[in-house]
Amino acid sequence: MTPDFTLATGPDGIAVITWDVAGRSMNVMNTEGFALLDSLVGQALGNPAVKGIVITSGKDSFAGGMDLNIIARMREAAGEDPVRGLFDGVMAMHAVLRRIERAGMDPRTLKGGKPIAAALPGTALGIGLEIPLACHRIFAADNPKAKIGLPEILVGIFPGAGGTTRLVRKLGVMGASPFLLEGRLSDPHKAQGAGLIDEVVPPEELLDRARAWVLGAAPDDIVKPWDRKDYKIPGGAPYHPAGYMTFVGANAMVNGRTQGAYPAAKAMLSAVYEGALVPFDVALRVEARWFVNILMNPSSSAMIRSLFISKEALEKGANRPVAEDQRVRKLGVIGAGMMGGGIALVSAMAGIEVVLIDATQETAEKGKAHTTAWMDKRIARGQETAARKAEVEGRILATTDYAALDGADLVIEAVFEDVGVKAEVTRRVLSHVSAECIFATNTSTLPIADLASASARPDQFIGIHFFSPVDRMMLVEIIRGRETGDRAVAKALDYVRQIRKTPILVNDARFFYANRCVIPYLNEGIRMVAEGVAPALIENAARLVGMPVGPLQLVDETSIDLGVRIATATKAAMGDRYPDAAVDDVLFWMADQGRLGRKVKAGFYAYDEKGERLGFWSGLAAHFPRAETQPDLMNVQHRLLFVQVLEAVRALEAGVLTDVREGDVGAILGWGFAPWSGGPFSWLDMLGAPYAAARAAELAQVHGPRFAPPPLLVGMASSGDSFYDRFGPGAEAARAGSGNPFGMMPSSGQT
Ligand code: NAD
Repeated sequence: MTPDFTLATGPDGIAVITWDVAGRSMNVMNTEGFALLDSLVGQALGNPAVKGIVITSGKDSFAGGMDLNIIARMREAAGEDPVRGLFDGVMAMHAVLRRIERAGMDPRTLKGGKPIAAALPGTALGIGLEIPLACHRIFAADNPKAKIGLPEILVGIFPGAGGTTRLVRKLGVMGASPFLLEGRLSDPHKAQGAGLIDEVVPPEELLDRARAWVLGAAPDDIVKPWDRKDYKIPGGAPYHPAGYMTFVGANAMVNGRTQGAYPAAKAMLSAVYEGALVPFDVALRVEARWFVNILMNPSSSAMIRSLFISKEALEKGANRPVAEDQRVRKLGVIGAGMMGGGIALVSAMAGIEVVLIDATQETAEKGKAHTTAWMDKRIARGQETAARKAEVEGRILATTDYAALDGADLVIEAVFEDVGVKAEVTRRVLSHVSAECIFATNTSTLPIADLASASARPDQFIGIHFFSPVDRMMLVEIIRGRETGDRAVAKALDYVRQIRKTPILVNDARFFYANRCVIPYLNEGIRMVAEGVAPALIENAARLVGMPVGPLQLVDETSIDLGVRIATATKAAMGDRYPDAAVDDVLFWMADQGRLGRKVKAGFYAYDEKGERLGFWSGLAAHFPRAETQPDLMNVQHRLLFVQVLEAVRALEAGVLTDVREGDVGAILGWGFAPWSGGPFSWLDMLGAPYAAARAAELAQVHGPRFAPPPLLVGMASSGDSFYDRFGPGAEAARAGSGNPFGMMPSSGQT
């Protein structure tokens, strides 16, 4: 097997260590790779003929980070005493990087080390930047596509291979915070400007420049500032007046942003604060302790699993039926409104030819103008060019003429949400396209089976449900109707892949999956208003448990009249079984008061002229007076979360969902379900089915049958199963035992 790192010493006495993982487009670090890097550095340092080292990559990027599959399994793999196992592992990794940093010098005199430079041809993320940060000088090729940074926080961990400690000591707390707390990525020039790397050089000179620096480096050039006696953290340590201010601000900022729901941000701040008070090597131990604390928190592995591993698997077609390549060449979009305009934009951006049809030329053009406005905004920000705008606009034909659909292999309708209008459009489209063309509807509420009855080819009829705004929302829900065939499913999945979004594949049922779960969340918030629960308690409880937007704010955003329309239609469909009369009392009253939500600057919240929220509308408290006793925070949070996750379980039970990964990824990307949890099924697995079922039963007793634990959950509570054990992919293989990924050398948890 080709090793991940190789060493070659040139006639100039420079040992070049090249990272090149066979069979992958980007290097990722694993346990064996780390051990090999350590031994090659050791060899080079121990060889008197070697003057210095350059660490580089054989690819056009340096590294994407640590293998996330390893991090997600680290806790289970760390042995009987996982805290000890993880801590020892992380400390061993610190030792490797510290050996690179010290480079053989006498720690007392700081003399005798060999210079080590990092030469980055392109992207360097996570551990791919933490290794360079331990080197003495970082060169990056002038490669505008390269992304440099420490994105760990976005996966629910933080840089734990010394990246946190080194960056704070290099840039100061203020300078390091956007990179650590936001996971900000920069191109090489911006990275150099911020002090993350040292030099940006022409790509063809990368190795020569790094070599020349190594040959010319003076003994002083290779001593890190923090290893000198007179070292002070730039901007001040916590007890310095400026440093104190920074920490107060950073604390407030992190808590404001995360609402305390994300353990990694808090732990990282603690590592930074405590680490800043002690010498460097002690700070690394502090970092390691907080890092292990995060690895032990089930949130980190759940986030990694859902947001990276499962998401990627779904994007690569984990549930795609076998069918030949169905990539879309020419797309028809009918209805150039808010959704149609967005669909045309993202498709044209992906290089697809688009015919955008509306009832009048004017409305069709208006839909296309969405692309123009979108591009103009980005050109103003320097993110797009006029040439690219012309290219993308050139792919969209705005017209009223259905004959332009000739040659289209996929048509998506996004006309009004009306069965009759949609049926007419379906028939008209089918009379203009070839027999192979797949027809999709973007309906958000109408059953696919009903809409498909307007088609003579229901096997070629499918739901492709986008979320609004189309350009920003990454989830696309693909709905397989009763008669939808495999080729239509493959077509939808290949199309979603082309436009670089994440698909989930669900079966046809009222509200499909995402809306089915988010509507109960909104309704639960509204019910509490009727019960006299303080609106501030409802909204804050939601945000403190990690929902990005409280239910009342979300109702305002999506509009009260939409809620009224959905309630009316659901009631008509369900008749006596309709369970949400208490919600409607509030909703219909709000509509009567003209408080239709943010779009009219009047809803549960009051708004100023610009549409900024001011606070709760005072009329609400007047009509729904606050109850004297308020529920405690956790009770409100449990109501808000359980009402969603129980619906997700019912969707799985009913076969609407067939894969728990889709349930988790869809929830986070579709409606922002508490990302720290990894999604509804990951959260239920954290709670354990016995507790979840018992708690649901308690809630049902007090608040009504909507909380009754579904039979599937009750069954799992008695059998002791978890959702991922029972329904997760590769559950069998995982149970068969995956060995200890630490192997000979414990590895870290980087992205
Ligand atoms: P919209 O009112 O903004 O746009 C609808 C467009 O369809 C209008 O431009 C209208 O002129 C056009 N249209 C109507 N009848 C037509 C016909 N017979 N032929 C050609 N064009 C016709 O509505 P929207 O918000 O874009 O929603 C469109 C569809 O997408 C609906 O089915 C809706 O349920 C669904 N959807 C909406 C959202 C959302 O958040 N708005 C989200 C997901 C799905």
